[in-house]
Amino acid sequence: MKTRPVLFALLLLSTPAFADLAKAPNVQVTYTGIDAKYADAIAQTLSAALKIYSDDFGFDMPQTVVGSVTCAPGSPTRLFTDGKDHFTLNLPSQDKLLKPASSGTFNLYGMCHELGHMAMYRTLKDRDWMSTAAAEGFAHYAGSVVVDRVYAAKGPSLWPDPYDYRQDGSARLNKQLASPNPDDVTKAAGQWQKIESIIGQKAFPKLFKAWQDANIDPTKPNDTILLTLIKLDDSKVAPLADWWKSASPLFIEKRQASSIASKTIPANRLTGKPTKIALDDDSADDKRSIAGSGHARTFQTPDDKEWYIVAVAVHGGRYGPLRAPDTLFDISLCDPELKPISVWKKPYAAFPRGDSNWIRFEIPPTRVPKKFSLCLNFRPTATNGVYVSSDTSTQGNSVTGTPGRTATPLKDSDWMIRVELDQPK
Ligand SMILES: [Zn+2]
Repeated sequence: MKTRPVLFALLLLSTPAFADLAKAPNVQVTYTGIDAKYADAIAQTLSAALKIYSDDFGFDMPQTVVGSVTCAPGSPTRLFTDGKDHFTLNLPSQDKLLKPASSGTFNLYGMCHELGHMAMYRTLKDRDWMSTAAAEGFAHYAGSVVVDRVYAAKGPSLWPDPYDYRQDGSARLNKQLASPNPDDVTKAAGQWQKIESIIGQKAFPKLFKAWQDANIDPTKPNDTILLTLIKLDDSKVAPLADWWKSASPLFIEKRQASSIASKTIPANRLTGKPTKIALDDDSADDKRSIAGSGHARTFQTPDDKEWYIVAVAVHGGRYGPLRAPDTLFDISLCDPELKPISVWKKPYAAFPRGDSNWIRFEIPPTRVPKKFSLCLNFRPTATNGVYVSSDTSTQGNSVTGTPGRTATPLKDSDWMIRVELDQPK
């Protein structure tokens, strides 16, 4: 349930070709390796929880949640969502579906938790400013509330191994909050609980939409977030400001901006004959889509004079739906420490689905330091993303990371990213 970089190349292959289907209102679950009674219980749980997210919170939830459960020896126990409408559960053996006291796995709560991610992510799409603790904390808080209500609607017999699963809901969260050293996710869940008591449950969709519409700059998010918050209800300015003061250290993802200011120039003041910097051999050796991280490559200007970046080319191919989604990704100009100078949004749709090719993006002419990095952040999911090619003819100039955060060097190759630089006339 935690977010960490995931390589999707492997993941997509793991969906089995043969599978049975369990249905419940607005839910379809394909499954292999488990009994029908468990698949039905999973579908029923998702369906009940989905209704609570829609009716009680007012979230825009999917018309149909599509689940996939794969039980196979040796598989790690994993539960995750694409943040839109897909839910995946992998497990090594069916006894992992027994009640938590026997299996150590909180499956019922886990499903309510994953739908909590969907509830937030479907509306709050751009949340680079938000910490993992805040995102996980929301799913923990909302999932716990929803577990209680699923119990009220369905009772103990919902699960094939019946038990009082209210103990997995708010009771468990409150116990964790009362413990001497709650972790950051628990503390964040407590903050979501607190704001619920100020604005009410039904205000969450409005809050997430307001944050999405506010175009929050991840390098300086604080003021915009607070402003959006207090606009939500002007009769609660003081409690909301107090709340944000206590929540913000936990909710904001610490991110450093570059000390280099972004400086643009009108295109007609450039020579119009850009220098292309292509350091690869034009032949891809591998390709990757990385959830929770990005692809960055370092470049150098040809000399010490004034240079402006005017275009970026990426060797990549899109996977996911046949029709291009309206998803956007970021191209960031960064200093050599990967701290952002400028960020531009570009459409996924520019990449054709399937085979990888060079795709060129024009950039508003922006001054680059002598050494700089270009970082691509696609925020992919298992069902929607872009593979970026890598090339082994050079190495040591690329990292996996996102602007302003820690990066990991790419081993034995470089990302296939090219830039075009121009000079003033
Ligand atoms: Zn989670």
